[in-house]
Amino acid sequence: MPRMPHTTCHLRALVASAFAAACAAPSPAPLGGRLVDLTHPFSAETVYWPTEEGFVHEPGLRGVTERGYYYEAHRFRAAEHGGTHVDAPVHFAEGRSAVDGIPLERLVAEGVRVDVSEACARDRDHAVTRAELEAFEAAHGPIPRGAIVLLETGFASRWPDRLRYLGHAGRGEEAAANLHFPGLSAEAAAWLADARGVAAVGIDTASIDPGPSRDFEAHRALFGREVPAFENLANLGALPPRGFRVVALPMLIAGGSGAPLRAIAVLP
Ligand SMILES: [Zn+2]
Repeated sequence: MPRMPHTTCHLRALVASAFAAACAAPSPAPLGGRLVDLTHPFSAETVYWPTEEGFVHEPGLRGVTERGYYYEAHRFRAAEHGGTHVDAPVHFAEGRSAVDGIPLERLVAEGVRVDVSEACARDRDHAVTRAELEAFEAAHGPIPRGAIVLLETGFASRWPDRLRYLGHAGRGEEAAANLHFPGLSAEAAAWLADARGVAAVGIDTASIDPGPSRDFEAHRALFGREVPAFENLANLGALPPRGFRVVALPMLIAGGSGAPLRAIAVLP
C-alpha cells in the first residue's frame, strides 16, 4: 500500500515564507559542529563489485493524482555490497555479527583520518602497512581505543569512473579477478584490532583489501575480531587527521552481511 507523502514542508510553505525558508535549509549543524558527508549517492552510476548488477531505481508514480495532490514513490533494489556501505563481520567470518548485530558504539565514535594517498598514487595496489599507521601516530598521537580509523587513499576522486577507480571497467568474474586499487594489509588490520582496539575501519576504495587480493586477509583479520569495515567512502580529504566524530549508520538489514551506509563526519 502506498504511503502518504510527507506534507509538513508543503503546509509550512503555504503558511509563511519564513517557515518555508527554514524548511528548505535546516540548521547546518544539529550535532554542534560542521557536517561532512562521507557518502557517495546511490544511482545507476554507483560502483558495485563487478559481479553485481548495481543499484536499480525503478520509476514508480510521479505526478498529480486524481484527487489533486502531488505524489511520488519509486522502488530500488541493490546488492548489500556496493556504493558506500558497511561490511558486517559475518561477511568473512562465520558466526560473527550481521549488520543488525553491530553495536552502535562501533558506528558512532571518534574518528582519525590517515592520509596514505601519496603511497597509493605511486602504487595503485598498495597495501597500507603497520609502519604507516605508526608514522601517523608519531605525527598526530596514538590512535585512541574505540576510534574509527579512516584510510584516505585519494581514490574517491576517481569515482565513478570504473576503470580508474577499480582498475577494470568490465563486469563479471573476469573483471573481478583483475582489479587494482589500494587497501589495508592483513598485518595492519590485525594490529589496529588487537593493539589499538579500534571500533571500525573505513576506506575510500571498493574494498578494505587491495584489488589484487585473492584471500581477503584484511577482511578476515578484522571480521574475525568483530571489527566492521566501511567501503567506498567519500570526501575523506575534507577531514583533519583528528578531532572529529564519525556517524556511520547502515540500513538495518536483519541478518545482512552488509548494507548501504550513510556516513558523515562531525567537525567542531
Ligand atoms: Zn563490502
